[in-house]
Amino acid sequence: MSGSLLQERRPGGGANLAAEPVLEVKELKKHFPVRKGILRRTVGHVYAVDGVSFSIAQGETLGLVGESGCGKSTVGRAVMRLVEPTSGRIRLNGHDITRLSKAEMRPHRREMQIIFQDPYSSLNPRMPVGRIVGEPLYVHGIGTAKEREERVAALFERVGLRAAQMKNYPHEFSGGQRQRIGIARALTLDPKLIIGDEPVSALDVSIQAQVINLLMDLQQEKRLSYLFIAHDLAVVKHISHRIAVMYLGRIVELADTRTLFTDPQHPYTEALLAAVPVPNPRQKRKRRILQGDVPSPIRPPPGCHFHTRCPYAEERCRREVPVAKEVAPGHVVACHLR
Ligand code: SF4
Repeated sequence: MSGSLLQERRPGGGANLAAEPVLEVKELKKHFPVRKGILRRTVGHVYAVDGVSFSIAQGETLGLVGESGCGKSTVGRAVMRLVEPTSGRIRLNGHDITRLSKAEMRPHRREMQIIFQDPYSSLNPRMPVGRIVGEPLYVHGIGTAKEREERVAALFERVGLRAAQMKNYPHEFSGGQRQRIGIARALTLDPKLIIGDEPVSALDVSIQAQVINLLMDLQQEKRLSYLFIAHDLAVVKHISHRIAVMYLGRIVELADTRTLFTDPQHPYTEALLAAVPVPNPRQKRKRRILQGDVPSPIRPPPGCHFHTRCPYAEERCRREVPVAKEVAPGHVVACHLR
């Protein structure tokens, strides 16, 4: 995505870092079994998420980036409890929700919502969009029919749609409008945390900018916290206060956005940054283009997962898993050389 449409805007400074985090994730793992044969015996595992830790403050956006298949979407789904974590801990507003049953999760579901990359596939094509957006209110038994309708109409206006469009069906909207409907639906229950799983990746550049600006405005108004998942560092840069970089199921670097862009410490972050277009052509960036593909998460390389592509790899990297270290306040790196 070209940075030009968004470069004037910075994330708001309203993140409340002193208060208890809205979301706290500790050593989260999700290993999917690989089954084969008539008896469906487990013959291995996909190590989609392999010990991920982070927190998000009120009013803060944490960007989660990495190449496709690195496990970032699985992190979002595990936090939402759409997939069961293998181990680790998820705390939402101070409550441990890792092992709660469906019924126990119900009150916490209101607190966090997800926006998907392709809103069309998550919008029922046979339902008017007003009903889709209002359905969570109905399911949770909130308000009278009239109050629900008024709330949905207000949400439509807030996300840049017209209340009159509530009776239209999903196919009558453009991609950008459908993502606005997805955002309205996510806001229906007044959540504290929104997980955006590649929410703008399928949109045209100019529409991406509009949707990101809308999300930033809503964050300031409602003190929302975002986990913003994307493969594109340029997109994540504009909306995120901090960024976590993921590679093959692990976070390899986490820092505030400015530090990550000006002083990256992990060779993988360096390589990702080399692919981001620089607005000023005279401003040169150290270019170290990544070689090879991401290895399979079924058989991740031992030691540092990145050693098969790292230009600085040494013997130790092939044997020992690098421990995440705080190299400066708030700047965490998992590399033997740091
Ligand atoms: Fe490269 Fe070794 Fe650091 Fe991994 S631990 S990123 S292989 S130098």
